[in-house]
Amino acid sequence: MSREELIDKIAVHVREILKLVGEDPDRPDLRETPIRVAKALLELTEGLRKEPPHVKFFKTGRKIESYVIVENIEFFSLCEHHLLPVIGYVSVAYKPEHDEVPGLSKVVRLVQWFSKRLILQERFTRELAEILLEKLKASSVYCKVFGLHLCTMLRGVRSRTSRLLTEAWAGEITREELDMLRKLVKCKTLRI
Ligand SMILES: [Zn+2]
Repeated sequence: MSREELIDKIAVHVREILKLVGEDPDRPDLRETPIRVAKALLELTEGLRKEPPHVKFFKTGRKIESYVIVENIEFFSLCEHHLLPVIGYVSVAYKPEHDEVPGLSKVVRLVQWFSKRLILQERFTRELAEILLEKLKASSVYCKVFGLHLCTMLRGVRSRTSRLLTEAWAGEITREELDMLRKLVKCKTLRI
């Protein structure tokens, strides 16, 4: 199905939802809304349909024996329970398996690609660590994710201050390394 067809199909349903919540989808200011919602939804879930970004590697001459840390990568997702935004930061630490490292921008692009879908943050963190292990050709990966869930802020318990912090690791990682990474890898928090 082409992107245009997809937008049109989603827009038909958004129109119905507008009616069901008591709006008039034909009032002038709402006329373009179903199309805009469809486009926004497709953009926020494009990781489900797009191939992961290609990762280019750079030779280091010798194998790097320490962890490489990329902190505070911004991400935007939708929570899989309410389709409301989850925004936050991902910090990644990885140890290269061979004498080559990926470009920094590719680590950022991989995280952004993988976050463009519906997520449950705990599972997202684990799957992200596993995907990065493979795509970054790493022997081990540690991820820390800080997420602000709008569904928790705006509805239900309406907690404006709670945040979700999750961690996961993949590959060969020792207890000592894990203890070190937990202290070393920082993840920015967000206030709104
Ligand atoms: Zn939710």
